[in-house]
Amino acid sequence: MNESFDIQSIRKQFPILDQEVYGKPLVYFDNAATTQKPLCVIERERAYYLNENCNIHRGVHYLSQKATEAYENARKTVADFIHAREAREVIFTRGTTESVNLLATSFEHFFIQEGDTVLVSAMEHHSNLVPWQQMVQRHHGNLLVIPMSDQGELDLNCYSELLDQRPKLVAVAHVSNVLGTINPVKEMVRMAHEKGIPVVIDGAQSVAHMPIDVQDLDCDFFVFSGHKMYAPMGVGVLYGKAEWLEKLPPYQFGGEMVDVVSFERTTFNVLPYKFEAGTPNVGAALGLEAAIRFLQRLDRSAVESHEATLLHAAVDRLCGIEGIRFIGEAKNRSGLVSFVVKGVHPYDLGTIIDKMGIAVRTGHHCAEPVMTRFGIPGTVRASFAMYNTLEEVDAFVAAVKRAALMLR
Ligand code: PLP
Repeated sequence: MNESFDIQSIRKQFPILDQEVYGKPLVYFDNAATTQKPLCVIERERAYYLNENCNIHRGVHYLSQKATEAYENARKTVADFIHAREAREVIFTRGTTESVNLLATSFEHFFIQEGDTVLVSAMEHHSNLVPWQQMVQRHHGNLLVIPMSDQGELDLNCYSELLDQRPKLVAVAHVSNVLGTINPVKEMVRMAHEKGIPVVIDGAQSVAHMPIDVQDLDCDFFVFSGHKMYAPMGVGVLYGKAEWLEKLPPYQFGGEMVDVVSFERTTFNVLPYKFEAGTPNVGAALGLEAAIRFLQRLDRSAVESHEATLLHAAVDRLCGIEGIRFIGEAKNRSGLVSFVVKGVHPYDLGTIIDKMGIAVRTGHHCAEPVMTRFGIPGTVRASFAMYNTLEEVDAFVAAVKRAALMLR
């Protein structure tokens, strides 16, 4: 465990963790689904509704101007956090799912033609798969799929060959929510760009756990959700290079995204407003800014090494369980472990350890093709965050052992 990492002071900032469920201390290992929120985030949202709440961009009065300024400052904070060149390259959405749907809708109108394809990976979350699939299928096209090994690593030779089939776009997860694999996205972007193909990176599972530099990655788009990085639900981000966002048509129509409107025709607002129709979730955007500030105050490499320690300890200790099979054993992984135990249904295992105070996720994790690839109905997934401890890992492993014995 990293010495400079003060876990107790971090845990104090997440009061929700300090509770018992079914008379047992809560062990929250469902962080890939959503993280808990620190006090500073909760307080920021509360302060907005207590003192600043107002609709933005359209008021001449004091509160509206203050709220507008706060919202636009949050956009700048996000841009700095992911190293975007300009704040107008940051579009606030409801989350990763809406960001991908926005892109798929805009791309469809912009340049999808009969028989076109989109290249995705075999480990995508449904949110970065179904919108693309539906889009190309409307034009009698289909998805191309980058296969993966039994360890859960993408096959880059196949990827290179698939790029030769000239898909219109590549859409790939930075980190798999089932396998924990960290994909070599920088290299994948370079390979796609050599063939003039744009790349969307789904950063839902990476942004809380590693520094993101969209200019260094050189990706055309990067999408993520606030709630998986200690921020409130209901806010997320679509980053896009300005030259792309300028070309793409709006996604939704209504107030705020327009320039001049008459019954005959409408012209649209400039970036980023062109993509933000209607009233946004201002309070959540300010909460996202507070979450970013919270992360920036920490030594992020210490956080990363703490999460890596938890992962390695969990894998090491689970290894001793008879009949365990890990799903996802890539060399380069982020903080989650997925597994099945022979003769035990993941759902039953999850239900029993819940009664021991352990919160994990079971099932297909919105990635059914991954389950098909590994020939399983689902997995048990324990996913870690900065506030988790080695003692919690021990409690989790002991609970899995007991449940497996009971169920076999
Ligand atoms: N992509 C990945 C890799 C995810 O793990 C998730 C959520 O689990 C999503 C996309 C969808 O995120 P949201 O439900 O916040 O839109």
